[in-house]
Amino acid sequence: MTDVRPWRSVLLAETIGGLEAELGAAWARLLAEMGVEAGSPEEAALKLLVVEDPAEHEWRVVDAALDRLECVECGSVLARGPVTCRRCAFHHDARFAAREVDRVDVPPGNEHAVRVAFAVARGGRRYNARVRAGFELSLPLVVAGELPTTRQAQAARALLDRLTPEECERVTTFGEVAVLARGR
Ligand SMILES: [Zn+2]
Repeated sequence: MTDVRPWRSVLLAETIGGLEAELGAAWARLLAEMGVEAGSPEEAALKLLVVEDPAEHEWRVVDAALDRLECVECGSVLARGPVTCRRCAFHHDARFAAREVDRVDVPPGNEHAVRVAFAVARGGRRYNARVRAGFELSLPLVVAGELPTTRQAQAARALLDRLTPEECERVTTFGEVAVLARGR
């Protein structure tokens, strides 16, 4: 299931698409490991097992299971319904207990940055424009293996604070943020 929201840049759209493909691959791998056939009742049961116990699984598997479930309360993709849906809020929060394993040749903690930025980007309405801009602009960078220092992250946030919410929705790079923030 894909998000219908247009992403702020081609780079972000490609990055999200790449991660969603990884989710699909992670799910297919789990099915193969468990000897479960796609579309079977066993797969339906497995999805529920995974989202009930996210700490037992890698985050891509957990997010893949959420993507494949419908919220019984609001009818959205599970964890992606309106902020008022308590069931979606519960599963959105619970997903962060999933395992984050750093890829090789990246700074420790990079995987956490990737999964959080991805969740915020796809969480849409759950976060305000400024928060979303910060995470969405950083997502392609952290997927490429970077990890901003605390000081760099604070500097980026300070610049974003000088933008209006409308500008936060529009910006496509941190360079653009710096230009808009200049002199304010
Ligand atoms: Zn819901």
